[in-house]
Amino acid sequence: MSFIADTDLVGDIRPAVNFSDRPSGEKIDMLVLHYTGMKSGKAALDWLTCEESRVSCHYLVFEDGLTVQMVPESVKAWHAGISSWRGRDNCNTFSVGIEIVNPGHEFGYRGFPDAQIKAVNALAADIVKRNAIPARNVVAHSDIAPDRKQDPGELFPWKDLHESGVGHFVEPERISSGRFFQKGDEGPPISALQVLLATYGYGLRETGRYDSDTETVVTAFQRHFRPERVDGIADQSSIATLHKLLMNLPDQDTT
Ligand SMILES: [Zn+2]
Repeated sequence: MSFIADTDLVGDIRPAVNFSDRPSGEKIDMLVLHYTGMKSGKAALDWLTCEESRVSCHYLVFEDGLTVQMVPESVKAWHAGISSWRGRDNCNTFSVGIEIVNPGHEFGYRGFPDAQIKAVNALAADIVKRNAIPARNVVAHSDIAPDRKQDPGELFPWKDLHESGVGHFVEPERISSGRFFQKGDEGPPISALQVLLATYGYGLRETGRYDSDTETVVTAFQRHFRPERVDGIADQSSIATLHKLLMNLPDQDTT
């Protein structure tokens, strides 16, 4: 399938073969950021455009900032897999996905070069504006699939993205000593934490037990919103940062 790029920020078009129709009437309402998690950008491009992979993405951004479009936004790319956010499953049906070239935690996770981040921020701003995507629906793959995914990871500069007008972010609360909750803890404070995380968007059930699902979601939360320490322990800084996010939701995100 050949197609015309959705934005003039695209430097090259390399059509993928894995995609499908969006359900009729489904509006794009989410932007998902990924890292490729492969040894090179070339390997990622080959993988994302081959049938055998059973995956694809709308955009791929290389370390030098080159942006390649592989799937038109009007159709569904296969990037998110089993996923959930704000009570909705199958995020592929209503999202656009950007893959950012980085070897990832498996092959030598490293900081994202400035040229790449500049390109990602510009592309994300363009997508969010054209599709009127709410700030709280600009997410990491790890936010919507915390039990399976770590990408784009704690080195992704969400604060810079927010400063380019994309996504929801507050300055994380300072890490200090004090009360914290961790795996094995039980009781009303754990229920409260689970409810807050689910209220923000995470697919987490209230059980009143700090189980492995809770630990996994706290880890995902930290990767995105309190990246200084990613350990799955709900310390005061993590909890206060979560409260602050909920208290500072942009108007269009409060429902
Ligand atoms: Zn991903």
